[in-house]
Amino acid sequence: MKALCQRSASSCGACCGLYNLADHSEAEVRRRLDARTDALAGVPRTADAVRAAAAALRQDGPVPLFPSVRICPLLGWLDEARTRVGCLAHPAATGGPDLRDCGAYDLLTCEAFLCPSHAWLGEEEAEIVDVACADAHLYGLVVTDVPFVRAALEAVAGLAGARVERRHLDVDGFRHALRRVFALKQELEPGSEGLFGAFTPDRHGQPVPRSIDYPSMGRAPSPHDTLLTCIGADPRSGNDLDRLEVEVRCRLDGCARALPGA
Ligand code: SF4
Ligand code: SF4
Repeated sequence: MKALCQRSASSCGACCGLYNLADHSEAEVRRRLDARTDALAGVPRTADAVRAAAAALRQDGPVPLFPSVRICPLLGWLDEARTRVGCLAHPAATGGPDLRDCGAYDLLTCEAFLCPSHAWLGEEEAEIVDVACADAHLYGLVVTDVPFVRAALEAVAGLAGARVERRHLDVDGFRHALRRVFALKQELEPGSEGLFGAFTPDRHGQPVPRSIDYPSMGRAPSPHDTLLTCIGADPRSGNDLDRLEVEVRCRLDGCARALPGA
């Protein structure tokens, strides 16, 4: 499978701390990437200079929402048009030296780490997420949450009566409709379980099963429980469950209607 970090249309920096701040909106994430890219642009590509620049950026940086995920000051824009997020210390970006030791982790950690989605996501699923998101913000929120991707695709298939395939995304209307479903991820409150994938560590670092506590709200489980649970659409996460349930239904219906041949 092609690596998930840099795809044809999308790129991700989630494990380098891209969303690990209270305001993880696209505008704020872009503003921080702009600032880092600008600050590092004139820095000589030596370990001492980059380490000093990283330290200065870290001092001005945001407080991590989740302390176990670091925010690396060397994550920035790889291209002039500022469409592709990635590591500015990687040899592919520096044009020579590998300076990843100067960031939030050591070089070996940066080189070796692959998030669990690399093992769990099939190639067609990865392509669907890449082509539907086609950006440097929504993509990372979606590709890191395999249960969410599967719940969304299964829900659309259930309504349309046909499996979603990569070729369907060549149709503009369907691609936009599927992006609307995935974009639920951009509309969650800070700290929502749905923001950091299916892996919410307990105090021993193990995943905590997610669920929505319907009885405490005096209501029956939603027919879209799987998807709503994946995005953490729970008042305990600060989200409005009823509003998100309506949004989920509306966006899934739109997507199912737009599925070619359905
Ligand atoms: S979270 Fe996964 S896909 Fe994203 S940059 Fe890290 S390893 Fe790559
Ligand atoms: S140095 Fe490591 S943590 Fe920092 S942006 Fe590069 S890969 Fe990510």
